[in-house]
Amino acid sequence: MRAVVYRGVNDLRLETVPVPRIGPHELLVQVAVCGVCPTDIKKIQYGTVPPPRIFGHETAGTIVRAGARARAFKIGDRVALHHHVPCLDCHFCRHHAFAQCETYKRTGITAGFEPAGGGYAQYVRVMPFVLPGVVKIPARNSFAEGALLEPVNTVLKAVRRLNLLPGDQVLVAGQGPVGLMFTRLLQLAGARVIATDLMESRLKLAKKFGARWTMLAQTGPAGGAEMPLRPDARQRVPASIPCPQLSTLNPQPRKGAWPRGAALRGLDAAVIAVPSDAAVQQALQLIRCGGQVLLFAHTKRNAKAEVRSEKSEVQNRSRSHFSLQPSAFSLDLASICLDEKDLLGSYSSDFTLQREVARLVFSRQLDVRGLISHSFPLEQTAAAVQLASRPTEDSLKIIVAAGVSRL
Ligand SMILES: [Zn+2]
Ligand SMILES: [Zn+2]
Repeated sequence: MRAVVYRGVNDLRLETVPVPRIGPHELLVQVAVCGVCPTDIKKIQYGTVPPPRIFGHETAGTIVRAGARARAFKIGDRVALHHHVPCLDCHFCRHHAFAQCETYKRTGITAGFEPAGGGYAQYVRVMPFVLPGVVKIPARNSFAEGALLEPVNTVLKAVRRLNLLPGDQVLVAGQGPVGLMFTRLLQLAGARVIATDLMESRLKLAKKFGARWTMLAQTGPAGGAEMPLRPDARQRVPASIPCPQLSTLNPQPRKGAWPRGAALRGLDAAVIAVPSDAAVQQALQLIRCGGQVLLFAHTKRNAKAEVRSEKSEVQNRSRSHFSLQPSAFSLDLASICLDEKDLLGSYSSDFTLQREVARLVFSRQLDVRGLISHSFPLEQTAAAVQLASRPTEDSLKIIVAAGVSRL
């Protein structure tokens, strides 16, 4: 079969590999669609795991072979897969910290080599311990909708970490595919969403996905400043949010005023769906006492130190430059203690939400079809990854579709 094999940093090759053999408790699934996920991009571009591997974990397809003991499934079923499933029994699982569970950390889907999802291949083997995560796709829904259950799950899990009341005002910084999922799920939860992004086109979409207010974010007070990221990573992230309370950071809001009601009361919560430290700092100031800031995109360890060494020369020339000082992130701990503001993180999915996620997506209350901007054939997976890593005005969720007519 054909598969796209990761052979080293930024090195994806189309190769011929054997179709995986399955055991009596396992399934063989012919891949129809696989979403391109930022966590895989990170591994490909930074080489955080050793090659060779076949990535791709937002996978949907058709069961073409079922082991003698995998009786709950039949050949021809259209299914969405989940590559991580927790044991639901260990200390972490009992505390609902599923992403820390040892069983969860094992990857249960592979197209060969060290299991890594395998969705960028024609067939994948589904191991017994992730079978509870297999979801049948209703006839009216597409493979692409099935493939997006996994990212939607991670977003719903994060939304559930917030203590929200109906009518609460929540900032969502970043309106990429994940930010838009937040906007819609928060709206469904009764929140009033203030959506920000650097791209006007994404703000229009945010309105469609239920944002009450939208605001164009800026790249920094001096203009044209890059965010504290490596040059090949996503740079287009909000560095500052127009707000009267932050006039020192942002003296001239370029567009639009801070929504009136929101300015008076402050935000109840903020979701940071971009890897911007500046956005976190600002959100902590903008939320009311007792509010919450949730980090969703800060997935790269020691990112700050790395940027500091790379950019040190520029920093020396321009010490006062706000967005060139990633190390300037500081936290007044009294804001946590005295003001009772919570700083939270959320990572990966919550298996116990799977049923609800399937209901939200398949009923199209959250219509993920509007999030998919590009579909690439398997042979062009490298181009798909490239586009997903450098979003443009018209790109959103990118998928790799191994020859399906109906997305
Ligand atoms: Zn993912
Ligand atoms: Zn566990």
